[in-house]
Formats: sequence, structure tokens, C-alpha cells
Amino acid sequence: MATQDQYDVIVVGAGNAALSAATAAAELGARVIALEKAPEHLRGGNTYFTGGTLRFPFSGIEDVKDLMPDLSEEEEAGVDVGEYSQEKFYSDLMRVTEGLTDPELANILVTQANPTMKWLGRNGIKWVLMYRRQAFKIGDKYRFWGGLILEASGGGKGLADQQFEIAKAKSVEIRYEAKVASLHEDNTGRVIGVRIKGPEGYYDLYGKTVVLASGGFQANTEMRTRYLGADWELAKVRGTQFDTGDGIRMAMDIGAAPHGHWSSCHAVAWDLNAPPYGDRRLTDLFQKHSYPFGIVVNMEGERFVDEGADFRNYTYAKYGREIMKQSSRAAVQIFDAKVMELLRDEYFIPEVTSAQADTIEELAKRLDIDPAGLVKTVEEFNASVSGEEYNPTILDGKHTQGIEPPKSNWALPIDKPPYVGYSVTCGVTFTFGGLRINNKGQVQDTEETSIPGLYAAGELVGGLFYYNYPGGSGLMAGAVFGKLAGTEAAGEALA
Ligand SMILES: Cc1cc2nc3c(=O)[nH]c(=O)nc-3n(C[C@H](O)[C@H](O)[C@H](O)COP(=O)(O)OP(=O)(O)OC[C@H]3O[C@@H](n4cnc5c(N)ncnc54)[C@H](O)[C@@H]3O)c2cc1C
Repeated sequence: MATQDQYDVIVVGAGNAALSAATAAAELGARVIALEKAPEHLRGGNTYFTGGTLRFPFSGIEDVKDLMPDLSEEEEAGVDVGEYSQEKFYSDLMRVTEGLTDPELANILVTQANPTMKWLGRNGIKWVLMYRRQAFKIGDKYRFWGGLILEASGGGKGLADQQFEIAKAKSVEIRYEAKVASLHEDNTGRVIGVRIKGPEGYYDLYGKTVVLASGGFQANTEMRTRYLGADWELAKVRGTQFDTGDGIRMAMDIGAAPHGHWSSCHAVAWDLNAPPYGDRRLTDLFQKHSYPFGIVVNMEGERFVDEGADFRNYTYAKYGREIMKQSSRAAVQIFDAKVMELLRDEYFIPEVTSAQADTIEELAKRLDIDPAGLVKTVEEFNASVSGEEYNPTILDGKHTQGIEPPKSNWALPIDKPPYVGYSVTCGVTFTFGGLRINNKGQVQDTEETSIPGLYAAGELVGGLFYYNYPGGSGLMAGAVFGKLAGTEAAGEALA
């Protein structure tokens, strides 16, 4: 089949970054099409599988009220959201990425995050406070921690559905089962369109500009193994099976520069028996993020990370990679009865891989952990706990002494049965390596000049995340850089 058509802006993909780009371009009056590889019933990309949480700077409850105009006085009186400045966001990003984040991209992200949240809100995205996952009740108020306060109503599913509705209302055309296979250039090197593989074969579409927003390469076993290393083909994928690095590959085929941390990725503790790709009903519920309130051991019964090094949302994205290094790529999170009420919702789904017992030795046997190893670890751990006051809403400094690795906060002895263990493996979320963009979202070639007509946003942009990641930054970066790329691409197309 051969059809030809001309658009102002062609967007590749239809996740958060793509729909932000498409909506921003359409708002400027551009004729926009979003091309999505998945069939309609599997739409939404990785965005669909998220918790719908976005990290943005806010100065207090007034910013929340701007985004949640229906917040009642009663609800307002029951929360302490604190504040989160641009400087704190910037320093968190730099701190967790070992100072490697591209400063220009970091500046755009932290300065544009709050205005972009307001833009999403004006367009109709509904937000709710994250009571379930980012707050604990202390006295009469829910206190939020870790720089995260809001999630999209309906989580990732709700966010994706709302974004599709908004894009359609702005006259964005969305075409499913349209896998973009390659980019067309003219003789000057300008990108002028795309080659698509649809259900009936290949065809071409032409546009004045193209925005790539087709995700990372986490669902491509060959690329995972090539760039992340041995055994990464065995990792479970937390989200969509469609993010196979196509946009990165097709841009590099025409000379785009690779950028960022290609040998690293966002990866978390994920249920041992989760399916190989994301489950559209359970979405993110196979994750197990409450380890700061217990200990994590390998199958030999040994601890291998500082479970309390920082708030959960500053360590979870790097600890999946530590689980990959353990025998059988497996670990067990262990809690006692004292902390069970602090565990997140995801621990209470029927599909969880867990066991309970009244002794540590019995728990070890039920979860295939070496019993002698686990008993020794728990005894040493309990004996090492210091006396500070325990408080899960702050870095309480309640730490261990004399054991390796230490536990730096929230160290309580594991001594109140029943004991519960949750078996986990490594779940890969998204890859960190990608394309280099400039401050207009234009894709850079290996000589660091812009490839005319080509823009990029979302997971496939490299340079933002190295080694680790502050929770909630992926969706925020996708929205900020998607809006930027869509605005610039439309501006160029309509000039
Ligand atoms: C389980 C889970 C939970 C998460 N929770 C959060 C969270 O709460 N907060 C947060 O900030 N981040 C979270 N993330 C990370 C977040 O999903 C990503 O950062 C973000 O969704 C990426 O958006 P994107 O638009 O770049 O990619 P995607 O949403 O994956 O969109 C890319 C789209 O491109 C399509 N595509 C791929 N190849 C082609 C092609 N050749 N042609 C056409 N289309 C193509 C794909 O089908 C897909 O629809 C989570 C991720 C997962 C998996």
C-alpha cells in the first residue's frame, strides 16, 4: 500500500511525551498526527503502567489548590504537604545521578515542571493527593515526604486516557498499528517524513517536522543485553512490550548522537513471579517499594543494600540493578508485625509471592532462603540497632552500628512475629541511554548540530538520568520536553 499525506507535525508514539508534544503543537494551530505502534486496546505506552506520579517544585498548599481547585477546606486542614523548591529538585537530581545530569536539561526540567503541571491541569488533567503512597498520618495530619504529592486521577491509566481525550479534543489525529520504521530525509539532510509499517504493509507520511517520542529500549532483549550487559535479557519488563528502541535506532541511522548512560537503567524490586511484560490490570502493583521498613536479603540470607539510605523514592530505581547481581536474580524483603501497617497497597494484592511464619528459620525454609544464613543475618542486624526515635516521615537517623552494609534510617529490630517475606526479582522500567537534544528539543547529530526538522522527547532522550533517578521525574520530563518539542516543532512548521 502506498499513500502520501502532508502534516505540519508528525509525532512518533502516543505515550505521555508524545501526547504532550502533539497537544502543544495542535494548540498552536498545527496539523498533527500521532503514530502509535500498538493497537488501540494496548495503547498508552509505559505511561499507562505508571502510578501517574509527577515530581514538580511547589511552594506549599497554594500550588496544590491551583492544581486541585475542588480541594475542600476539610481536606486542606488534614494535610501537611510541605514545600519543594526548584533548587531542591535540581540538587536531588544531581545528587542521585552523581552530578552527571546534563545541566541544561536539568535546568529546563526544574524550571518548566511547575508551569507544565499547570498547563496539564488547564487542559483538564485531574490530580489527587497521594495519601496511599507518599504520606503517613502523624497526629491529626497526613505528612507528605520525598518531594512527591500528586498523582493523576486514575493513576497511569487515568493519565493516559485523559491525555488521549485532550489530544483528540485539540484535533490531533491518532493512528494505531502504525509502526514507524524509518525517517525520510531530503537531499539537504532535512527530515521530511516517516516510513510506516501498518497492518497492510509499508507506506509513507510526510510532515514539515517530526517529533520522536517512542520510548526507550527496555523491551528489546537484544539491546538490553548489548548495552546493559550479561543476563539483562532475563530481566522482567515492568511496562509495555512496544518500547523496543525504534526511535533511537532510526535517529542514529541518520547520524543522531547517542547521549547519556547507555549501560544503565531504571530498575526496581518486582514480584518474582510477575509476567515477562506489564500486566494491564495490575499495572505497577508488582513493585515492592516498602523495603526501607524491613531488610532485604539474597537467597543466601545476606543483606546487600542499605535499605534506609534515603527515602524510598531516591533509592528504588537503582536497587533493582543490585537484585540482578544476586544469585538467581532474586531477593526477599522481610518485615515483622510492627511495620506491616506501613506497607504500601502493592503488598496486599492476591498475586503476591510471599510467605509468613512465626520464626525466622521457618520463614527462610518457606521462601527457599538458606536458614542458617538468614538467622545469623537477623541476629546480627537486631543486635546492631541504635536507640534514636523512629519516624517514617523523616530521615530519622535510626541506624545500625557495626554491620555491613549499614541501615542508615528506620532500623528497627525484626523481632515481632509473625514475620513476612516477599520474593522479588529485577523489573526494568526504562533505559537511560538515548538521543542528544538541545534546549529546543531538536535532535543533535554527532557533530552537535541540529538535524533539521527532527525533535525528541521522553524516555528516548539521553542525558537526564545516570545510575539513579528521583521518583516521579520520568513523567514530568516527558511532559516538559514533550511540550517543548511540540511547541518548537509547530513553530518551525508554521513559520
Ligand atoms: C510500572 C511503571 C511505573 C512507573 N511509574 C511512574 C510514575 O509513577 N511516575 C513517573 O514519573 N514515571 C513512572 N514510570 C516511568 C514512565 O513510564 C516513563 O518515564 C514515561 O511514561 C515515558 O513516557 P514516554 O512517552 O517517553 O514513553 P511511553 O509512554 O512508553 O510511550 C512511547 C510510545 O511509543 C510507542 N512506540 C514505540 N515504538 C514505536 C514505533 N516504532 N512507532 C510508533 N510508535 C512506537 C509505544 O508503543 C508507546 O506507546 C513508570 C514506568 C513503569 C513501567
